Amino acid sequence: MDKNLETLINLKREKMEKAFRDNNMELVQLNDKGELLDYLNQYLKDNVSVGVGGSMTLFETGVIDKIRKSPVKFYDRYQEGLTGEQIQDIFRQSLLADLYITSSNAIDMNGCLYNIDGNGNRVAAMIYGPKKVLVIVGRNKIFTNEEAAINHIRNVAAPTNALRLNKNTPCTKAGKCLNCHSADRICSSFVKLSYQSVKNRIQVIVVNEDLGY
Ligand code: SF4
Repeated sequence: MDKNLETLINLKREKMEKAFRDNNMELVQLNDKGELLDYLNQYLKDNVSVGVGGSMTLFETGVIDKIRKSPVKFYDRYQEGLTGEQIQDIFRQSLLADLYITSSNAIDMNGCLYNIDGNGNRVAAMIYGPKKVLVIVGRNKIFTNEEAAINHIRNVAAPTNALRLNKNTPCTKAGKCLNCHSADRICSSFVKLSYQSVKNRIQVIVVNEDLGY
């Protein structure tokens, strides 16, 4: 890589690390999925209870498979054959897990996390409950500021998720958010996480690959 470009990228990395540190969140930057799976070994042990937020990133990186094979107590929302009621029970149990692993719809260079959640279980666990929260994001989820992050969520992440879930919402035809009142709407809770009172409860892990959307 060109040295000047490398210097610029490193400057941005350091700036982002400082921004998260100032918000009492730890930022860890890893090169690829393999590094991520190795990194998680320190957490996935000793029968700790683990919950996860709904996320394509966790499947793409192999994190869900890794948790299933680890010596932990996994509140596995993706087990086959669960009823709706059983899934809701798992969501509630996950709010008291030792460890919660999720992704974020977007993060920004000012050290904040941005999420839209339909059910609310994911953002609830990020805000309060689990003792430790690991937020795994690909480099494609990093935005300059709040405006860019929210624009991405409303016009890329949410419509793409609506398509994935076969929802009958206007964004699946228009390719952007029309702030619908559809019964199939997947956007209910808009949450920005900034300064945290419990230092380093939230750790953000950026993987230098494009992951999820
Ligand atoms: S509010 Fe409605 S139109 Fe907008 S992204 Fe969510 S589901 Fe789609």
